[in-house]
Parts: sequence; C-alpha cells; structure tokens
Amino acid sequence: MKFNQPASSIFVPDGLDAEAALGRTTHLAIVGHQDDTEILAIDGILASFQQRYQWFTSVIVTDGRGSPRSGTYTTYTDDDMRAVRTKEQMSAAMIGEYAAQVFLDYPSSQIKSPNDLLAEDLISIIRKTQPEVLYTHNLADKHDTHVAVSLRVIEALRRMPHIERPQKLYGSEVWRDLDWLIDEDKITFDCSSHESLQLKLLGAFESQISGGKRYDLATMGRRKAHATYAASHQTDVQTGSAFAMDLTPLIKDDSLDIDFFVESFINRFKEDVQSRLYKLMQKQDTR
Ligand SMILES: [Zn+2]
Repeated sequence: MKFNQPASSIFVPDGLDAEAALGRTTHLAIVGHQDDTEILAIDGILASFQQRYQWFTSVIVTDGRGSPRSGTYTTYTDDDMRAVRTKEQMSAAMIGEYAAQVFLDYPSSQIKSPNDLLAEDLISIIRKTQPEVLYTHNLADKHDTHVAVSLRVIEALRRMPHIERPQKLYGSEVWRDLDWLIDEDKITFDCSSHESLQLKLLGAFESQISGGKRYDLATMGRRKAHATYAASHQTDVQTGSAFAMDLTPLIKDDSLDIDFFVESFINRFKEDVQSRLYKLMQKQDTR
C-alpha cells in the first residue's frame, strides 16, 4: 500500500503482509502524534489484545519532527527525533500486539487546513481496514494538531459513502479531560483490565517521559480518577476509565454543523452547572 508522503510506512508487528494486516482490523485509531494512540485509544487496544477476531490498527498522522526534547535528547535534530519517536511507536505496537502501525509522515503545519493528499490517505486506510470503531481526538482538545486531525478524519469520512463509514466514531482525551461532559453525553471506556500492559504501552515513549513529563503516570492517574469520581454515591465498579465524546452523529448526518455540534455539549454542561446553582440558591431563599 502506498501513501502520499514519500517516507510514509506501515509496520506490522507479526510480519503479515501489510494489506492482509490492515484487512483484519476491527478497531482503528487515527491520531496526531506518536503516543496519542496509547493515551486515547486504550479501549480499542484492550478490546483487541489477544483476541482472535478483533484487531487494532494505529495511524499516526504527523512526522514527530517538532517533538519537544530535553535531557539525553537535547542535541537531537528534528530528523533524529522523528527516528526515535517512530521506533518508540513501533515498540508500543509490538507490546500491544497491533494488527498494524501506519506512519503517514505529514509535517504538522500541513494538516491544519483541509489537505486533499491527507484525505486520500485517510480514505484508503479506512476503506482497507473497514473498522467497526474509529477513535480520534475529541473536538474540545486544546492542542491545535489534535483538533485538526479530528476535523480531517471527519472530512475524509464525509467524502465516503455511508456504507463504508464505521459504526462508531469516538473523540477521546489527550490534552484536556472530558469529565466536564454531562453524564448522559459521556462515553465511558472501562480500562480496568491489563493494568501492567497499559503502563508498558505508555512507558514505551521514553523520549517524551524522560524530560520529566510523566505522561505514563498522569494517564494512569487520570483513568483512576475518572473511575473514582464518575459517581458520587456508588462504590467503584471500574478501577480505570477513560472518557470520549461520541462523534458518530457527525458522520451519520453530513449536514450537521461541527461548531454547532460541539457547542451543544458545552451548552448542556453550562445548563447543568446553572440549574444546580439555581436550585440550591432558591432553597436558601425560601428558608
Ligand atoms: Zn499529540
């Protein structure tokens, strides 16, 4: 399979032919950077781990050249960083036994507006993998590249016939949690199983962690915090949870405005906060 960037590549951990490897995919993640997959698509990785009929594929859109660096990596050039981050992502794909790991290798500056070459690449991957579930960044993330990837994924899907689109499109957490979503809007992924596997996956990205950013501990901590703080009056059912925004309506109805759709989540959050305050202030007034 050939993609539009000259240095794009596909890594298949178990050595199967690339076409066949992609063809077995049931759960697909399309993300901005190396390590975003392990943070946001843990649901798909766990659902497919050691399963005969479920397979997870990860797609990294950008080239990793602009990655932050410190300590051992301070003197690394952009090309060195790209090589290190690619190697780390391949190692995560081995640990998580992914069906395939795709590197599309776009400079992040090139994906911040609609890009036909990227759309073509995404369409050919989605067509080849035919995933049931597709994970990407949520539209309220605070990293421009993340939101751009999510928009490019939605645009690509909207160019495809409905029959070829996944049943579910989820926007999950990296830079900004989704615990602010009202409970009815929250998609909750149970991350209680394979805790040591989750840690190993996050720990594969030494170049990002070694500078003192403990993404591994922070992500595991967030999963634990979500599980505990999900409901105030019940004991914990899950020991780890991750949240997502259900973006499926945007690929069921192409006329649904993306701004309006995201704003509706924010409005429901606003109403929830306001109505509680109003109720409790009313009570005080009528003492
Ligand atoms: Zn990222």
